[in-house]
Amino acid sequence: MNRVFIKTYGCQMNERDSDAVAAMLRERGYAIVDSEAEADIILLNTCSVREQAEQKAIGKAGRLLKARRLGLNAAAMTTGDSATPPPPGAPPLRLVGVIGCMAQNRGAALLDSLPDLDLVAGTQKFHRVPDHLDNLLAGLRALGPRPASIVDTEGEPGSQNTISAHSSHRAVSAFVSIMQGCDMNCTYCIVPKTRGRERARPMDEIVDEVRALAERGTKEVVLLGQLVNHYGLREFPTVDGKSPFVQLLEKINALDGIERIRFTSPHPAGFRADLVDCYRRLPKLCEDIHLPVQSGSDRILRAMRRTYTRERYLRIVEALRAANPAMRFSTDIIVGFPGETDADFEETLSLFDAVRFDMAFIFKYSPRSGTPAESLGDTVPREIKELRNQILLGRLETFSNASHRALVGTVREVLVECPSRKGNGLFMGRDRGGRKVLFPGTSGDVGRLLNIHVEKATTTVLMGTVA
Ligand code: SF4
Repeated sequence: MNRVFIKTYGCQMNERDSDAVAAMLRERGYAIVDSEAEADIILLNTCSVREQAEQKAIGKAGRLLKARRLGLNAAAMTTGDSATPPPPGAPPLRLVGVIGCMAQNRGAALLDSLPDLDLVAGTQKFHRVPDHLDNLLAGLRALGPRPASIVDTEGEPGSQNTISAHSSHRAVSAFVSIMQGCDMNCTYCIVPKTRGRERARPMDEIVDEVRALAERGTKEVVLLGQLVNHYGLREFPTVDGKSPFVQLLEKINALDGIERIRFTSPHPAGFRADLVDCYRRLPKLCEDIHLPVQSGSDRILRAMRRTYTRERYLRIVEALRAANPAMRFSTDIIVGFPGETDADFEETLSLFDAVRFDMAFIFKYSPRSGTPAESLGDTVPREIKELRNQILLGRLETFSNASHRALVGTVREVLVECPSRKGNGLFMGRDRGGRKVLFPGTSGDVGRLLNIHVEKATTTVLMGTVA
């Protein structure tokens, strides 16, 4: 039996791609295993957003290939200790592949540092992975030299339509990839290079996929795209003032069995009144918005090529709060972008205070080779970046604590996802705002919408009992 372990780095798009590859491999007769120790084939689905993420994956691939050269199992190398014997019965490692963003970004150059890597498959080639593994295994079975490495990173029209199969995981809540690529070219970002131009999947195919998920018991879908609210702008017409993305939301909202809809990540530039209005009209659309702002300074937004102003961003937030006062906001922020002054950072801080984000991913800027901002250097000292990072993290803790505490004593509608990792008979679900809720439950609760009376709150989680 060919046993494949897929290790995923990076974002939810990557998670979704890995799940689709797993489903395609299963269909082809491969077994998908949960740990490296059980696998004889390991695929690393990689992230290129930061140089560090690429180095981490290259280091991992190097250790796996060394394990194979020594005739060891992958698990023997996880600590980097080549003297560790493989666990009893563990299969020797046969194939190692790198797929996804780093494969796309570096292509055949990966073989310079990892010459015995078997497979390099880019972001438009996930659906080719089963064929490539079949061919590599056939080469291994033939007597003779090791089969040559396969490098497959060409663009492929229609490849966005191939990310549609689901493995059996995440049954209650499922990611659905609706488009690929990004035409925005923010100066700090490598994604346009790794994911290519915006390409939308046909609306009916997405609706069919969600309907099939609902038939399998999925209650919530999270629509994914690098620029999710730009879905189909090039491919499909606006109808009655509604963008293709709004039309898609309406169709999914009408599907029986689906209780909740979320999406990530939208861009403020395409967040128009028709989309805001969905929060009044579509009852399944959750009041949970991740809206990356990156900076509160117009000067820095321009340098980042973000194509909106702080005022426009704040107007969107205001309109969304007017549509639904319970709206929960999260965001991405970069501190220390080249040229960011104290005054620029003050602008970010005042925007952060105005929105009172519940959740935020705060990144300290580091130059990314291959991006337009690389030429701007790295002008903000490390200590200043760290200070700005800490100030924002402090604010975030204050806001998320306050908003969680305000929910103690209320009843939240919770979609139950799984047993809590902490055990103790606790189960984990999420309210409509996406907040994690823990409560004592049973396995029969998974997949149900329950009303939970909130009794305690921390910065990250609400705790309660069934009301
Ligand atoms: S919108 Fe900007 S940050 Fe987001 S993926 Fe596109 S280029 Fe990158």
